[in-house]
Amino acid sequence: MNNSNEVDLLVIGAGASGTCIAYEASKRGLKVALLEAGDIGSGTSSRSTKLLHGGVRYLELAFKTFDLSQLRLVREALLERGHWLEQVPFLAHRLELALPTENCFGKWYYRTGLGAYDALSGRKSIGSSRLLSKYQLRQALPCLRDDLNGGVAYSDGQFNDSRLNLLLALTAEKAGTLLRTRCKVLRLEHRKDGKLSGAISQDFLGRQERWGAKAIVNATGINVDNIRQLADPNVNTRILISRGVHLVLKENLCPDGMGLILPSTDDGRVLFILPFYGRTQVGTTDTPCTIQAANSPSLGEKDYLISYVKRWFPAIQAPSISSEWAGGRPLLKSSEEEISSSRVVREHEVETLPCGLISAMGGKWTTCRQIALDTLKAVELVLEKPLPAPRQFPIIGSSRDLMQLPTLLIKQQQELKEHLPQSQIQTKQLNHLQSNYGLEALPIIANSLPEERIPLSQEIPLCLAEIKHAIKNEHALTATDVLARRHRLAMVDLVEAKRLIPIIENLFNAKGIVATELNLEC
Ligand SMILES: Cc1cc2nc3c(=O)[nH]c(=O)nc-3n(C[C@H](O)[C@H](O)[C@H](O)COP(=O)(O)OP(=O)(O)OC[C@H]3O[C@@H](n4cnc5c(N)ncnc54)[C@H](O)[C@@H]3O)c2cc1C
Repeated sequence: MNNSNEVDLLVIGAGASGTCIAYEASKRGLKVALLEAGDIGSGTSSRSTKLLHGGVRYLELAFKTFDLSQLRLVREALLERGHWLEQVPFLAHRLELALPTENCFGKWYYRTGLGAYDALSGRKSIGSSRLLSKYQLRQALPCLRDDLNGGVAYSDGQFNDSRLNLLLALTAEKAGTLLRTRCKVLRLEHRKDGKLSGAISQDFLGRQERWGAKAIVNATGINVDNIRQLADPNVNTRILISRGVHLVLKENLCPDGMGLILPSTDDGRVLFILPFYGRTQVGTTDTPCTIQAANSPSLGEKDYLISYVKRWFPAIQAPSISSEWAGGRPLLKSSEEEISSSRVVREHEVETLPCGLISAMGGKWTTCRQIALDTLKAVELVLEKPLPAPRQFPIIGSSRDLMQLPTLLIKQQQELKEHLPQSQIQTKQLNHLQSNYGLEALPIIANSLPEERIPLSQEIPLCLAEIKHAIKNEHALTATDVLARRHRLAMVDLVEAKRLIPIIENLFNAKGIVATELNLEC
C-alpha cells in the first residue's frame, strides 16, 4: 500500500452526482476526496441528451395519473434548470423545441399542458410556450413532413454535459477536494462495530491507496449496487439499467436552431431531434441492459432511431451518422418488486445503510444539485454534526457576480480576438473558446504561444493550447478524454477526431503517458 489519507468525506464516482456532492461539501469546509474509476464524466454523465429540463413526459404522466409527486419532480427540475442557466450561461443556453401536432385537438391539448410547464417554472421561467402555425413549423424545420397542423413551441435548456461535469470537479478540487481519476475503489473497510471506516483504491498504474473517511458516499451511477454490496453483501439491488443511444447526423435538420420533440413514439417513448454543433443529435432509446452493455449502441437501436428520422423527415432517406454514443440510465426500482424500466419514476433517492454507506441513486443531470444537497443531509447524520453554511465559490469560468457575467464575457471576447490568428473561422473559434471555458478562455490563450492558437479542425476549432491545457490542468489521460469530454469533437465527428490523435499522442508521449485508442464506449 503506497499511502494512507484521512478525509471527512470520501465520494466514490465523479459523474454529475459525485462531482456536485464534492463541490457542495467542499464549500461547507469538509475535507473531501473524490475518486473516479475512469475519467471525469466518463460514465452516463457525458452521454446524456444534454437537456436541462423539467421533463414534459413526466408532466403528462402527472396529469394522466393525478400524481402530485410527478408534478413536484417537474417543478423541482424546472427550478434547477433555471439555476444552471444562471450559474454557467457559457455552458448552457435556452433552446426552443417544437412539438408537432396533427390536428386542432392535439394542438390545444399540448398548448394547455405546456402552459402549465411554463407556470411551474415560476420566477425561473425562460420564456413562454407559443402556438406554431403550419407555416412557422415549416420555417423552423424545413425538411419536416408537410402533413402536420403546426404545433406548439416551448423552451428548455441545452448544455454541455461533460464540460459542466469537468468544471464542477475542477472547482471542487480548487476548493480543496483531493481528486483522483483512473482510480477505482476496490474494497470498503469496516470497524469492529460494523461501521465503515474507509476504502482501498487502485489507480491505473496498479498503485493502491487507503482512504480513512468519517463518511463515505457512493455516487457510482449504474454501478451503485456493486458498491452497496461491497459495504454489505446481503443488500438487495436497487437499480435497473436502461440504455439510451444517441446518433449525430451530418445533415442539419434544425437549421433555425429549433429542436423537435416527438412526444410519443410507437412504443410510448419520447424522441428528441436537436441542433448539435451545426449537425443533428437524435435520441434516445430505452433498452434494459447490463452494466457491461450500457455504453454500446446496438444495431437495432440505431435502426430504430434512423427509422424515425426517415419517417419525420421524408426528404432525408439516407442520413449519414458522424458519431454515436450510448449511456446507462440508473433507474430506481422499488425495493421489493421488479418492475419494467419504462414505468420506473426517474426520481433520486439517498439511502444510508446501517454500516453508514450513503448511496445517491437515480436522478437526472438537471437535478444533481438537489441530489447533492439531499446527500449532504445524510452526511450530517453520519457525522453527527450540522455542516456550516456554504461559502461562495463560483464554478471555474463563471463569476461571483452573476449579474456582471454577461458583460465580462463580452469584454473578454473583444480581448480574446486580439490573441487569435486571423482565419475564416475566427468567430467560430471565439465562440468555441468562450463556450468551453467561460472567463478562463483569455488566460488559457494569452499564456500560450501564437502557433499553439491555430485551429486544428474546422468542425470544432480546438487548438494545441487547449489540448495542452487539458493534459496539464484538466486531468486528461487519454485521447478519448481530450476529444470526447474536454472537447466534443469525437461526439460530433468521430472520423475528424481520429485525425487529431497523432498530435495528442505526441503530447502524451512527451509526458510519459501512453495514450489509448479513441473509443466512445469507455
Ligand atoms: C441516454 C440518457 C440521456 C439522458 N439525458 C438527460 C438529459 O437530457 N437531462 C438530464 O437532466 N438527465 C439526463 N439523463 C440522466 C443523467 O444523465 C444521469 O442521471 C446522470 O448523468 C447520472 O449521473 P451519476 O453521477 O449518478 O452517474 P455517472 O455519470 O454514471 O457517474 C458514476 C461514476 O462512478 C464511477 N465509478 C463506478 N464504479 C466506481 C468505483 N468502484 N470506484 C470509483 N468510481 C467508480 C464511474 O466510472 C462513473 O464515472 C440521461 C441519461 C441517459 C442514460
